[in-house]
Amino acid sequence: AKANGKNQVVVFDAHLRAASEQSLRIESELWLALERGELRLFYQPIVELASGRTVGAEALVRWQHPQRGLLGPADFIDVAESTGLVVPLGGWVLAEAARQLARWDADGLAPMQMAVNVSARQLGGDVLLQQYRSAVDAAGCAPQRLEIELTEHTLVDNVDVNLRLLNRLRDWGVSIAIDDFGTGLSSLAYLKHLPVNKLKIDRSFVDGLPGDAGDHAIVSAAVSMAHALGMQVVAEGVETRAQADVLCGLHASLAQGWLFGRPVDAQAFAQRLRDQDAA
Ligand code: C2E
Ligand code: CA
Ligand code: CA
Ligand code: CA
Repeated sequence: AKANGKNQVVVFDAHLRAASEQSLRIESELWLALERGELRLFYQPIVELASGRTVGAEALVRWQHPQRGLLGPADFIDVAESTGLVVPLGGWVLAEAARQLARWDADGLAPMQMAVNVSARQLGGDVLLQQYRSAVDAAGCAPQRLEIELTEHTLVDNVDVNLRLLNRLRDWGVSIAIDDFGTGLSSLAYLKHLPVNKLKIDRSFVDGLPGDAGDHAIVSAAVSMAHALGMQVVAEGVETRAQADVLCGLHASLAQGWLFGRPVDAQAFAQRLRDQDAA
């Protein structure tokens, strides 16, 4: 048994080493990817539930890897977070999202709002304010158009610091959304002090609709609370018509999910907007 135990330690150690070598490799490649312009943004429609019309988009980062093909955040975002690379990455995402809004304006598409994901790592000092300012200024895009999404977890940590930062953004007219709502145990008392415009209900609760009574109660309560606090609701991860119908009945106004559209590149998203305008 003793020898066995020792072997297990050796095997475990080898796994750990392989994992850390893998993450070192991703780290150094990700630096190059930023320099070489291998990152891309994909856009997922945010629709008005009542009409099905696309009223906005969420920008989601992808990595066009020279050997491994198109990678999603699951393949690299943890490494980016743990090494701090997510800070320059997040700056690029803001800049590219603002540039894309300006390109679509120039192409004559109807103006809409775009949401970008912001990491807790970007909240240190004035990093986010600087990244945001230079993104919208360089693109000539109104701050009202570029919304930021912060997870409930990110918001709950460092409430005081975040409040100061969020109030600055609010002064500029920036819309703020709480992402993955329902996973972070935030109290009602604390939410009411945050300058938040939107509440995105986490996919894990939408998944259980229409069958799960607990999920139904949670979504219903979240919608009521959001409305009482003057926030809009976005239901995330809507995959079926039955889910959309329940959400509509609960008066959630906006939704996002595969039922309405998967994340696609800028060209495909623009085509979607044109088709909608033509219809
Ligand atoms: P998120 O912000 O919660 O984004 C929604 C994720 O759910 C996206 O995954 C999207 O493709 C996926 N999704 C959308 N609709 C459905 C659906 O109906 N069913 C299912 N099963 N999934 C759906 P993605 O693009 O892989 O992104 C995963 C996470 O990576 C994001 O979760 C976000 O936390 C993070 N992320 C993405 N882009 C960025 C970024 O630019 N910066 C930072 N810091 N994080 C990012
Ligand atoms: Ca998000
Ligand atoms: Ca989310
Ligand atoms: Ca999520």
